[in-house]
Amino acid sequence: MPPICCVCLRQQHGTEMYDIVLGANNGIPDYLLIPHNGDESLFSDDEFQFTDRRLNGLVLDPCGLQMERERTTPRVCYSCNGYLPRSAMPRYAGGDTGK
Ligand SMILES: [Zn+2]
Repeated sequence: MPPICCVCLRQQHGTEMYDIVLGANNGIPDYLLIPHNGDESLFSDDEFQFTDRRLNGLVLDPCGLQMERERTTPRVCYSCNGYLPRSAMPRYAGGDTGK
């Protein structure tokens, strides 16, 4: 099974996936906050509760999140990653941003 994108929930064969490493002191990148539209959201806040409480209320698939004690690693696909402005990008796992 290919990895699943936590934002669009797609599992795509042959698609490059990006692990966004969030350390204990990192903020959540803006693009992960977008799915949550407050009162206009299709989902209630109660529906999306995560071990990492910073993610609560965000519409993310737990299958696309790696939860560890010291960090959370949302995994996003190439297309979702493409929405992000470069300046807002967190550090990738492995630090390979030179493509
Ligand atoms: Zn995606």
